[in-house]
Amino acid sequence: MCGIIGYIGGKSAVPILMSGLSRLEYRGYDSAGLATIVDGKVHNIKAKGKLSNLRALLEESPVQCTTGVGHTRWATHGAPSDLNAHPHCDCKGEISLIHNGIIENYLSIKKELETEGHTFISETDTEVLVHLIEHNYKGDIAEAVRKSLLRVEGSYAIGVVTSKEPGKIVAARLDSPLVIGLGRGENFIGSDIPAFLPYTRRVQHIQDREMVVLTDSSVEIFDLSGKKITRKVTEVHWDSAMAEKAGYRHFMLKEIYEQPRTIAETLKGRFDGDDITIEEMKLTNTDLADVNRIVITACGTAYHAGIVGKYFLEEYARIPVEMDVASEYRYRNPVLDDKTLVIAITQSGETADTLVSFRNAIAQGAKSIAITNVVGSSITRETPNLILTRAGLEIGVAATKTFTAQVTAMILLGLKIGRARGTISVEDFRMFREELHKVPALIEKILQDIEPVRTVARKYYKSRDFLFLGRSVGYPVALEGALKLKEISYIHAEGYAAGEMKHGPIALIDDMVPVVNILNHGPVFEKMLSNVKEVKARHAITIGIVNEGDESFDEYLDEIIKVPYIHPNLSPLLTTIPLQLLSYFIADKRDKDVDQPRNLAKSVTVE
Ligand code: GLU
Repeated sequence: MCGIIGYIGGKSAVPILMSGLSRLEYRGYDSAGLATIVDGKVHNIKAKGKLSNLRALLEESPVQCTTGVGHTRWATHGAPSDLNAHPHCDCKGEISLIHNGIIENYLSIKKELETEGHTFISETDTEVLVHLIEHNYKGDIAEAVRKSLLRVEGSYAIGVVTSKEPGKIVAARLDSPLVIGLGRGENFIGSDIPAFLPYTRRVQHIQDREMVVLTDSSVEIFDLSGKKITRKVTEVHWDSAMAEKAGYRHFMLKEIYEQPRTIAETLKGRFDGDDITIEEMKLTNTDLADVNRIVITACGTAYHAGIVGKYFLEEYARIPVEMDVASEYRYRNPVLDDKTLVIAITQSGETADTLVSFRNAIAQGAKSIAITNVVGSSITRETPNLILTRAGLEIGVAATKTFTAQVTAMILLGLKIGRARGTISVEDFRMFREELHKVPALIEKILQDIEPVRTVARKYYKSRDFLFLGRSVGYPVALEGALKLKEISYIHAEGYAAGEMKHGPIALIDDMVPVVNILNHGPVFEKMLSNVKEVKARHAITIGIVNEGDESFDEYLDEIIKVPYIHPNLSPLLTTIPLQLLSYFIADKRDKDVDQPRNLAKSVTVE
């Protein structure tokens, strides 16, 4: 999830680009770079790490120019390094490009261009696009970009400058954000409005598969067939703090709303006929078929994603799966061999306990896979087998979009191992492929009507204790719901396997305790219903997450929150969403610091 900015006008461009990048740094800070036009030539400058490194370079060798584009990177392909930093250049150094997104078919295009003599210097998917533009350039940069975009699959927001037509910036988007800022004698591009908000409030939103040609005095929008498009200009009235959160009150809420896109990103390009391809994983299907036991190590929210994965793997890959919190696992003396696969799940890739427990297991000869959201993080150096969750930078300390992305990654892995071992039928595999692709739209639907969740939050935000109950994959959802509520609202909350209630926790129930029940349809539905009746009989306040169209609960549930139906094994991807919103609304109502709760940190790099 990189940030892009562009300026063309009469002022000195570098300070404008740098201030834009500083407001976009929340989108990534693996590296930063600028492509400018100086004396009719393309001038690139870039540095690994935070923006301050680029700033230092610019202080050493200042750049004077009035046109340029800038980038702050969150790596998806190729580790954070100077070479992989954007902008990327064509062979002659005449065209420069910045990119946010993923070019999925970059390998095949790269091969073709290499046989034509193009030389690539980075490991990124992005570089292929600038060489493709060079290949297609016949005197009109906009036309070369248009032609090239017709070839690429994946997602992009790009900015292109060239010494051949120095008075222009060409930009385009598909599934990555891009906005235009309109000034007087100057124009801007940005990943979001705050990037240029100090300079103009007049914006045009670019839609998917559209491109824009900007000069200092004109902005023209086209679709990819070359047809000109008219777009209304809107005036924004946000203050800059609101603008950074794209109009949401908190990053957490923004991130909850990003889930349709982040799940779609995590799924993109993974299905290959009746198999799953995971480009960043070296283990072959033969290696995976050889595995007879799986161990999952993780902490916090990632641990909950692991439990969903464990149930899926057991059912469809038919392998015994053991799971432990990493802080325990690292001090056990586990029995491992080369037929054991150890899976570590960590959003940041830096979680100390997960890293050490993973390293110990690898040292004992186990096969390894790491699921992480951060390319180039420490865990990516422990194993050649990764699954990248592509959820983009998460700023809210309470994990939301990275949890659903981890669950998606675990399901993909379960399907892959199931196919490798021949334990999942082609019919089931195809059914899951279809079901998974429905998820983004179904989450969108849940997010369109959040009023029932807000109502529950308003009624019960003063409660001292909450219980969350689930069975089967509803159990990790209950754990995650309780964790979210604890983390940001500071209310005592417990997640329980509903069947365990009778063994103790039911003693906690009285008419002051809201009990949230995960009641979607599936093999454990009837059992869950019995648990609801039990707590209702003890006067608890019962809240149910139920499937749309199910009216059979009215006498047992005080509050009903509906989610669409999906295959029960995938249901955590939907039932989690109202629980994230519930904790968010309760914390907000209690006036807590939602994005930075007390005593917590985003990545736990100490024991
Ligand atoms: N795929 C590009 C890279 O790795 C852009 C990453 C992004 O936008 O997240 O450099």
